[in-house]
Amino acid sequence: MAKPPAPTLSKLAVINDDGSRNHVHPADVKGRFNRVKPFVHFVLVAIYVVLPWVKVGGRPAVLVDIPAREFSFFGLVYNAQDFYLAFFVLTGIGFSLFLVSALWGRIWCGWACPHTVFLEGFYRRVERWIDGPREARIKLAKGPWTAEKVRKRVLKHGIYIVLSLVIAHIFLSYFVSLPRVFEMVRQAPGENLTPFLWVTVITGIIYFNFFWFREQLCLIICPYGRLQSSLGDKDTWIIGYDTQRGEPRGKKSDPNAGDCIDCRRCVTVCPTGIDIRNGLQMECIGCANCIDACDEVMLKIGREPGLVRYDTYRGLEGETRQFWRPRVFAYMFLGVLGLSVATYVFSHKTSFEANVLRVTGAPYVIDQDTLRNQIMVHVINKHSEDVTFLLDPCDGTPGVRITMPQRKVTLKPLASHHVPAVIETPRTGYKRGAVQACIDVTDVAAGSGRQLTIEVLGP
Ligand code: SF4
Ligand code: SF4
Repeated sequence: MAKPPAPTLSKLAVINDDGSRNHVHPADVKGRFNRVKPFVHFVLVAIYVVLPWVKVGGRPAVLVDIPAREFSFFGLVYNAQDFYLAFFVLTGIGFSLFLVSALWGRIWCGWACPHTVFLEGFYRRVERWIDGPREARIKLAKGPWTAEKVRKRVLKHGIYIVLSLVIAHIFLSYFVSLPRVFEMVRQAPGENLTPFLWVTVITGIIYFNFFWFREQLCLIICPYGRLQSSLGDKDTWIIGYDTQRGEPRGKKSDPNAGDCIDCRRCVTVCPTGIDIRNGLQMECIGCANCIDACDEVMLKIGREPGLVRYDTYRGLEGETRQFWRPRVFAYMFLGVLGLSVATYVFSHKTSFEANVLRVTGAPYVIDQDTLRNQIMVHVINKHSEDVTFLLDPCDGTPGVRITMPQRKVTLKPLASHHVPAVIETPRTGYKRGAVQACIDVTDVAAGSGRQLTIEVLGP
């Protein structure tokens, strides 16, 4: 089997020998994957933009209202007490991502990660439109500050800032609702200082990330790339170079050379600046640019495309690929387990909360032959619509009487209300710990109820 030349893996491709940043200027590339990408980016960005406009049951489809501690998710509403459900959602997403990574490697990074989608779908397009192709961009970046360079930089960064502002405002609408964002935009910044500062900071981060930081985010900050080596194995689908077919590299006319003509086109189109022929590297985000680039070269020189392709390590080495393997079963099992637990917990989420609280001050009052406790019945509506609740005394200890000024409460979604109540019991025969009062709370909409009990306190 032909061996590739010894790879140079001592440093990242984006770092120069002196430790300075080597800015990557990926060349434009056309091909089957790059024809599909704009549609994928369009659909994902459309979901991001449209979701705040969509309403389910009169509420935004997705809203995380932190000041009010209310969360809406496709017609379901949650409050801070439901926060534990986030654990099941996050573990479900985590295990799903483990499974996807074990099967298809970094498909998320290359195709669906918001960083990739916005960078490739918007910011790099703007850059190409204003600064031109790779060679022109490199020349402009290295060239002196002329009037033309200033004009291009002002235009490009102006568009970048507008794009970042739009993305940040859409992001804000997931936290304060769209009508509120429009209202705030029309008001002076001082009237909404906290959201204004948040949007300014987020805009700054987005702008900095997409104009300067770029691939550094994947290489330095994102932990997902680091996890890849532990999630994948020899049967994970990756983007790889077929060494057996490509090596030894050489001219097309050389009868002893393999299929790789060492044109380095796969390197110049790479957004992280790596050479896929050195094997899979942590910097590879699975964008498939090198596949399209190499296929284009192969077709031009009349050879079979697929020298760089989606395949498994085994496939690239000419061995039989395996889909089912222990780690796939393990991740599937954990994913199904997480999903089942999440479904159970979500389906058993209560439609209302009700509890009894004692009022502050003396726990009981003795009035001649009567012992009196004052309490509050706290009811929270967890439906996404207005609901009426009925409060009725039920059978507690014989002789206990409950007086409530309000027996019916209608609450808006996630609204809560305290209903005062007085419990009375004869003092004669009272024994601490043995006397209980009971209140039925009925959710009229769901037809469900809950019985609240409280001990009557006395001397
Ligand atoms: S694009 Fe293909 S032929 Fe050119 S260097 Fe890369 S692998 Fe070799
Ligand atoms: S090696 Fe290929 S798939 Fe990986 S980041 Fe570079 S161009 Fe994209």
